[in-house]
Amino acid sequence: MKEKVIYWLTGSQTLYGEDVLEHVAQHSKEMAMYVNRYLPVTVRFLTVCKSSEEVVAAVKRVNADENCIGIITWCHTFSPAKMWIKGLSMLQKPMCHFATQYNEELPYDTIDMDFMNENQSAHGDREFGYIVSRLRMDNKVIVGYYKDAATLKELASWCRSAAGYAFSRGVKVARFSDNMRDVAVTEGDKVEAHIGLGWQVDYYPIGDLAEYIGQVTEEQIDRLMEEYGEKYTMATDRTDVVREQAKYEIAIDRFCREKGGYIGIVDHFGTLHGLNQLPGLAIQDLQSKGYGFGAEGDWKIAALGAVMQYMADQKGTGLMEDYTYDLKDGFCLGAHMLEVSPQFAATKPEIQVHPLSIGGKGDPARLVFEGIEAPEAIAVSMVDMGDRMRLIVQKIELVKYPHPMPNLPVGGLMWKYRPNFKDGVAAWIYAGGAHHTVVSSEVTAQEMVDLGNMWGVEVVLIDENTEINEFKKQLMWADAVWKMKK
Ligand code: MN
Repeated sequence: MKEKVIYWLTGSQTLYGEDVLEHVAQHSKEMAMYVNRYLPVTVRFLTVCKSSEEVVAAVKRVNADENCIGIITWCHTFSPAKMWIKGLSMLQKPMCHFATQYNEELPYDTIDMDFMNENQSAHGDREFGYIVSRLRMDNKVIVGYYKDAATLKELASWCRSAAGYAFSRGVKVARFSDNMRDVAVTEGDKVEAHIGLGWQVDYYPIGDLAEYIGQVTEEQIDRLMEEYGEKYTMATDRTDVVREQAKYEIAIDRFCREKGGYIGIVDHFGTLHGLNQLPGLAIQDLQSKGYGFGAEGDWKIAALGAVMQYMADQKGTGLMEDYTYDLKDGFCLGAHMLEVSPQFAATKPEIQVHPLSIGGKGDPARLVFEGIEAPEAIAVSMVDMGDRMRLIVQKIELVKYPHPMPNLPVGGLMWKYRPNFKDGVAAWIYAGGAHHTVVSSEVTAQEMVDLGNMWGVEVVLIDENTEINEFKKQLMWADAVWKMKK
C-alpha cells in the first residue's frame, strides 16, 4: 500500500506576495513529509494552487497518475474558491479536506496582522468547504493538528479507504457457479456493480476448472502438502482426501492467474461436476493468501472480501455467516459449512475430514479451529436494493467460545452485536443485511463508511449509538433520497 501515492495540494492566492507564498510552499512540504511517516500510503506535496489554471493542471496530473489514489487539500491562507470549481469538477479520485494548521498554538505574545494573513486556515477552510459542498462532492473532512496522534490515525484510516477504493476498481471475480437456486440475497446487478464499484464478475463453467484440476502434478501437490504441514496440524490419516483439496487449490490459483488476475472466487456445493469434494481446505488456504471468497455463488461477498483483505493487509478478514444464536447469553455463532478463513484462527488449525450432509459429494478436508477474540470488529454486507447497492456495516465484538464445542467440525467465530443483542439483530434484519458477511478485526467501521461514500452507495451503520425507531426512520428517509437520486 505504501507504493500508492496521495498528493498534497495547498490552496492559496497571489494577494499576499512572494515571501508569504514561499513560506506556504515550504510549510506544505514539511507537513506532507511529516504525515507521510505515519501513513500506510506515500504522501507527496504537489503544488500550491493560486489560480484556476493551476488547479486544473494539478488535477489532470492526479487523474492521469496510475499510482495516485487520492488527494489531501489544505488551505494555509485564504484561497478564493471560484478558482477550484473547474479543477474539482474534473477530479476522479477521493479527496480529503484536511482542516489543519502549520502552527498548533497561537503565538499570543507576538501575534499581529502579518501572522494572521499568513496563517488563516480557519478562514480558508470555510471558503473551500463551501464550494466542495456546493459541488455536491462526497469528500472527507478531517480536523486537527497534523502532528497529533489521533488526527494522524484518522488520516491513516482514510488513506486505507482510498487505497481500498482504488483496489476495488480492479477487482475481478471468477464465478464457478451461478448463485444458489431460489436464494434472493446473493442475487444482484453485476453490470451496476461493475459501473459503480469496479467489480468485473465473470462466469466460467465448473468443467473449465475441472480441466485445470486434471493438469495438476503430484510434485505440485507434494509441495503444497509440505506447506500445509508447516501451517496446520494434520489430524486425519486420510491423506488422499487432503491431497485432493491441495489439487483444487493449485488449480484454482493457476486458473485465476492465467485467466486475467481474478482475486475473487465463487463456487456452489450443488454445482461440482468433475470434482469429488466441495473445495474446503483449498478455499480456506486461498483466503489466507488474499483471495476473496463467496459461497453459493455470492459474488458480492467475494469481491467485498478481496477489497477488505487488501485493506486489512490479509489479517483477520474473511467470509462469515450468521449461523445460530445463543439467546440466553446473547451471542451469535458464525461459521460456514467449510470455508472459514484461517485468518480467524486463535488455535493452530487442524486438518480434519468429515462427511458433508449436503451436496452429495465425498467427505471434504477442512480446517477446524476456534475463532479469535477482538473487542472492535465489524461484519459487513452488500445487498442490492433494486435501485442501488446498500452497504451495511455492523460493529461486533468477537468473543471467546463460552464452552468447548468438540463436535463442531468447522472453524468459527462467536460474537456479540452492537448496540446490544436485540437491537443489533433487529437493525440488521430491518436493513436487509445478508446471512453472508465479510467479518474483519482489522478494517474499522469508519473505514468502511468512508469507502461506501467513495463508492457512492447507500451506507447503513449499526453501532453503539443505534436506536431502533430512529434507525427505521433513517432507512425510510434513505429510501426516498435514493429514489430521487435515481
Ligand atoms: Mn452460505
